[in-house]
Amino acid sequence: MPNEFDAIVIGTGQAGPSLAARLAAAGMKVAIAERARFGGTCINTGCTPTKTLVAGAYAAHVARRSAEFGVTIEGRVGVDMKRVKARKDEISGSSRTGIETWLRGLPNCTVYQGHARFESAHEVRVGDQLLSADKIFINVGGRATIPAMPGLPGTPYLTNSSLLDMDTLPPHLVIVGGGAVGLEFGQIFRRFGSEVTIVEMGPRLAAHEDEDVSATVLDILQREGIQVYLNAKCIAVARSADGIVAHTDCTSDGPDFAGTHLLLSVGRTLNTGDLGLDQAGVARDARGTIQVDDELRTNVPGIWALGDCNGRGGFTHTSYNDFEIVAGNLLDHDTRRVSDRITAYNLYIDPPLGRAGMTEAQARASGRRVLMAKRPMSRVSRAIEKGETQGFMKLLVDGESKQFLGAAILGTGGDEVIHCVLDMMYAHAPYTVMQRAVHIHPTVSELLPTTLGDLHPL
Ligand SMILES: Cc1cc2nc3c(=O)[nH]c(=O)nc-3n(C[C@H](O)[C@H](O)[C@H](O)COP(=O)(O)OP(=O)(O)OC[C@H]3O[C@@H](n4cnc5c(N)ncnc54)[C@H](O)[C@@H]3O)c2cc1C
Repeated sequence: MPNEFDAIVIGTGQAGPSLAARLAAAGMKVAIAERARFGGTCINTGCTPTKTLVAGAYAAHVARRSAEFGVTIEGRVGVDMKRVKARKDEISGSSRTGIETWLRGLPNCTVYQGHARFESAHEVRVGDQLLSADKIFINVGGRATIPAMPGLPGTPYLTNSSLLDMDTLPPHLVIVGGGAVGLEFGQIFRRFGSEVTIVEMGPRLAAHEDEDVSATVLDILQREGIQVYLNAKCIAVARSADGIVAHTDCTSDGPDFAGTHLLLSVGRTLNTGDLGLDQAGVARDARGTIQVDDELRTNVPGIWALGDCNGRGGFTHTSYNDFEIVAGNLLDHDTRRVSDRITAYNLYIDPPLGRAGMTEAQARASGRRVLMAKRPMSRVSRAIEKGETQGFMKLLVDGESKQFLGAAILGTGGDEVIHCVLDMMYAHAPYTVMQRAVHIHPTVSELLPTTLGDLHPL
């Protein structure tokens, strides 16, 4: 006989635990299953550890630049990777323990540790336990994609997870993939003291961004001594005496890059292949993305999919918002939809890129009358005072409604400043509201109203 519950949550990523807590608080008997570390990707191998390392790398970078500020440091600036890792482990570990302790202490909630797999639309097996419920919520996330790359079998490689387990500095890190994960790790390890080479198949880094953003990101990284190779049409790798070598064209003699360590950062594979979805009849596409509607219901009544595995977000805040959408609809009679969400995310290189809404390319393609304004960070006094003038801010506005369409703030504080624009977008307010707001001096945000004065048709 199965253990009967009102709800089963599979995975403790950024949606599952909060949803389990809400359902349990509403009086439901809840089971939550986790097969690995509590808290999922963000806490263990994603946002938390990487942003902890970004902070450490920034400290090293500023220390090396200290003379520019008149601050003298005797001797060489050193990085103790064992202490860097210990700090990262402590911050990640305390979040992980916090979530596990919280879940285990929740009234009406039973924690199962092990791999969960559907046996039918209402039954899930975790180890030797069979659980049943009318409502099942999938929050299984993803893992680093291991591409079918020539030479990879037999070549040692790292992923975001295994690189974070290292407590020594890779002398020369070769990174395959110029997306967010590769760029963040590239700058982190360059600042800690590694040689870094980024090899990207496409013609630019951060390929989803506008060309001016990609070009500035490239410039920022190259100025720090990161070697970047673009248009690597067919990447092959091999083990070498010193570590690894990456060939940038496996059909002819393209340039080769030798390094000591290889990091693969070419995307994410969803953890939906070993869930028994076929037993439940849950539809997914060829990439493994679970198909959901605007309220995150799958094609099977009583089964929802939240977080990365539904292909609607790919971020911690979108996964958490998935929880809010499901809880709002199920428990609060509050109709919430994914389509109400505005695209927003940061790229945590330094200086960071804050993004909201459309890119310039998307705005151009939208067929609207678009107004745009752009200002280099070299014309932002706070950036000058901080000695961090790389980057620019770009604002896009609908010429008819006067509402913001999107923004890219690539520069110091960009990860926070972007929220000024994001909140205007959620408020559906015309840009003129921001233009008349008195922002605080000296900040990066204070230049948003000023920059709006430069709006011109695209
Ligand atoms: C290097 C890196 C840096 C990142 N940085 C950021 C950032 O700065 N900001 C941001 O917003 N996002 C960032 N992300 C993305 C972010 O980590 C994810 O979008 C976020 O964790 C949401 O994931 P999720 O809730 O879908 O599931 P996850 O966090 O991936 O958790 C899924 C959980 O389900 C468990 N599980 C899987 N299958 C089963 C099963 N069958 N049975 C039981 N348990 C199972 C897994 O063990 C895991 O614990 C980063 C990602 C990476 C890789």
